[in-house]
Amino acid sequence: MKYKKPVINRIDFAISSKYGSPLHSQKIRTEIDGIGVHELVEQYGSPLFVFSQKRIKEQYMQLKQAFEDRYPKLKLSWSYKTNYLNAICKIYHQLGSGAEVVSEFEYDKALANNVTPSDIIYNGPYKPKEYLKKAILNNSKIHVDHLLELEDVQSIAQELDQVVNVAIRVNMDVGVYPNWNRFGFNYDNNEAYEAIKFIANSPYLNLNGLHTHIGTFILEANAYKIATIKLMKLRQQALEEFGMNVEYIDLGGGFASKNHLKGIYQSPEVVVPSVDEYAQAITNAIYEYNTSDELPTLYLETGRYLIDEAGYLLTSIQAYKRLPNGMKSYILDAGVNILYTSAWYNFNIEIDKDYDNLTEPSILNGPLCMNIDVINDNISLPPLERNSILTISPVGAYNITQSMQFIRYRPRVVLIDDDSNTRLIRQEDDLQSVMAKELE
Ligand SMILES: *Cc1c(COP(=O)(O)O)cnc(C)c1O
Repeated sequence: MKYKKPVINRIDFAISSKYGSPLHSQKIRTEIDGIGVHELVEQYGSPLFVFSQKRIKEQYMQLKQAFEDRYPKLKLSWSYKTNYLNAICKIYHQLGSGAEVVSEFEYDKALANNVTPSDIIYNGPYKPKEYLKKAILNNSKIHVDHLLELEDVQSIAQELDQVVNVAIRVNMDVGVYPNWNRFGFNYDNNEAYEAIKFIANSPYLNLNGLHTHIGTFILEANAYKIATIKLMKLRQQALEEFGMNVEYIDLGGGFASKNHLKGIYQSPEVVVPSVDEYAQAITNAIYEYNTSDELPTLYLETGRYLIDEAGYLLTSIQAYKRLPNGMKSYILDAGVNILYTSAWYNFNIEIDKDYDNLTEPSILNGPLCMNIDVINDNISLPPLERNSILTISPVGAYNITQSMQFIRYRPRVVLIDDDSNTRLIRQEDDLQSVMAKELE
């Protein structure tokens, strides 16, 4: 036997605080929707993103139910930037969702996915004029971000000699900080009111919607109540002062998923509002502040809440070593290149079997040659072996759309459908796809 340098590990017995035990419990996951994690990796390789269609549908139905139980006029628009893999978008479209897009290529993607053009909401702070025109000709929903854009729309409408429907995006103080006040027209300083006045005074414009997106991972249902009240007050002003009947209000996205935000000690089960609480806050405020004969249609552009918990990342232990400070370091095949959101979240990390051994504080490093490539810097793990599989979740929101082809190829993505069949929905990068746009 070869000599191995001994190490001394401090065993931290679980010292409880008011938030519970500081040690991560070792959760085990052997399968996703009945399909073994080892089987998935054998068939598709590692790392591997896995999406559960069953979970996607469950979340969708919960959201829809929570709102439809309380409100008769609901429309959902799938937020493309949260995850725009076509296979994923199409599930939402089949469930009845329109599309919410924030760029030209997202707009074209929604069209290519056969979304009815009038069910596409075009958001974002930068909309090239030719795309504004395209969206206007398609009768898509235009959510104007600033005055110059309002003038762009007006000049296109003038050129087309038609009255164009627009909505404005409104930002406001809802008691959540940082305040996302760089998008849209401000409510509290009357900028939004002035924009409505501009629209009312233009022979080419009509206001048909009011939109806000107050932020993401909002842990206060009450913030939505404040936002709804402010939009409803603007709607009332548009009608009473300018005779414009605003058909819809759009509360954007921002509902939190059951992810564990860094710096928050309590579990997501404790801090994340239920979708019923969000629904209650919004719909109550509409009823309370509606003064017109007609209730507005309520649009939601929910992204994260719908998809985050339906996505998993399988990653394999490629090696381990002991760092000079005695900490055990595991080298994974997945890093921050494909887990962009690891900067914000302490993901659930589940091991693939019971290792029946003492755990020790360990660090999970990705495969990049970058010091910051850390998935978890202090997790209690038993001695894992090469090819042990970790399941990281929830990772369905934003990781795929924000992943970068840096140092390594981006991995495959599979979907497990309702009948527990797996299907490849994105191929891994390869040398050809990476070099496809290069010129010499
Ligand atoms: C990103 C975004 C959404 C989706 O937000 P989530 O927090 O993922 O629900 C909705 N609307 C707009 C305008 C967005 O920019």
